[in-house]
Amino acid sequence: MGKYTGPLCRLCRTEGTKLFLKGKRCLSDRCGIDRRSYPPGAKGKRITFKKSNYKTQLREKQKVKRFYGVGEKQFRIFFYKAGQKKGITGTNLLQMLELRLDNVVYRMNFAASRAHARQLIRHGHITVNGRKVSIPSYILKAQDEVAFKAQSLSSENIKTMLEDVKGLVEIPEWLIVDPEKHVGKVNSLPNREDVSIPVEEHLIVELYSK
Ligand code: SF4
Repeated sequence: MGKYTGPLCRLCRTEGTKLFLKGKRCLSDRCGIDRRSYPPGAKGKRITFKKSNYKTQLREKQKVKRFYGVGEKQFRIFFYKAGQKKGITGTNLLQMLELRLDNVVYRMNFAASRAHARQLIRHGHITVNGRKVSIPSYILKAQDEVAFKAQSLSSENIKTMLEDVKGLVEIPEWLIVDPEKHVGKVNSLPNREDVSIPVEEHLIVELYSK
C-alpha cells in the first residue's frame, strides 16, 4: 500500500484517538477529533469504534504505525528486531519506536511534529554525538547526544522555527534538554510508561503471530 496523502485528522478520527500529526493545531481547539469525535465517512456518526479480534488487532497496529509515522515494511522489521531482543516483544517494540531519532527530536521540542522532525533530519540539520545523521529511523542509545548542526542554528528559518516550537510538548524524564543551546541527551532508556499513546501492544504481537 502506498503512502497515505489524505487529510491527517482523518487518521486520528479513524483510530479514535489523537495521533498528534499536525503540530500546534493538535493542541488547539481546532483539533479535528475534538470537533468531530466519530469516524470519517458518510456513516461515521453511526459507527462505534467496535472491538473484535482481527479488526481490533489491525487497528491497534495501524494506530501505532501512524502515531510514529512508520511504514508497514519498516514496522515489520522493528517487530522482528523487538522479538530478537530479551524481554517482552511488545514492550521492546514500543521502546525501539520511542528511541527513533525522529521521535526523540520531536519529544525534545526541536520540531513541531514527528513528520517535521523527519524533514529536519533528512535535510541534514541534526547531529548525533557530533556527527550528522540523516536517517529518521536511526535508533538512539542511552547517553547519545542529539543537537542541531552549528550551521543550521545560524539559519533564521531554524531559529524562528525553534522559537515557535519551544515548550510545545512535555519533555519526558528519560530525555534531558538544554532549550537554550538546542542540545539534548538520552538520559536513560524509555520505560513502558513513557509511551504517550494509549496502546495495547499485545494485540499487535497477536496479529503478527498468526
Ligand atoms: Fe489528530 Fe487533532 Fe492533530 Fe488533527 S489536529 S492530526 S485530529 S491530533
